[in-house]
Amino acid sequence: MISKKMQAAIDDQVNAELYSSYLYLSMSAFYLEKNLPGFAHWLKVQAQEELIHAMLFYNFLNARGGRITLQSIEGPPTDWSNVAKPFEDGYDHETKVTARINNLVNLAMSEKDHATVTYLDWFVNEQVEEEASFDAIVRQLKLIGGEGNGLFMIDRELAARIFTPPAIAVTAGIV
Ligand code: MG
Repeated sequence: MISKKMQAAIDDQVNAELYSSYLYLSMSAFYLEKNLPGFAHWLKVQAQEELIHAMLFYNFLNARGGRITLQSIEGPPTDWSNVAKPFEDGYDHETKVTARINNLVNLAMSEKDHATVTYLDWFVNEQVEEEASFDAIVRQLKLIGGEGNGLFMIDRELAARIFTPPAIAVTAGIV
């Protein structure tokens, strides 16, 4: 059985992951309007991944005998000043998510909740990937100054992203 404190923190994380999904879907819509379908596609896939993260926490809380209590999801921004900005914001957002995951690990450790510490391991590693993938695209956008032929080349590259559900989600029966 999970502690009330840990339960509340994981509940919050379900909300944070759903917000991440909402944020990336909003960014995706921004790129659709800019006629950059590859950027839109990449972010739509990212939004799908975030839903899976939310469900992983949801399932875990249930498995530990916790009660999931969904909260309202904050509205995401809907517009950005230029085509590079969503990815810069996305990178910043992922560093905040990393800090949240680290805080969850800290709490689980202080609660001596080894099951949660172990479960969070996957998310700790996942955040390394998340920060790196946003950072790589931010760097590419910087190289080309966010415009011209380079933008279309990046767009084509991002269009190739394939949604691959993580093995942990397949095992958990989420996808
Ligand atoms: Mg996430």
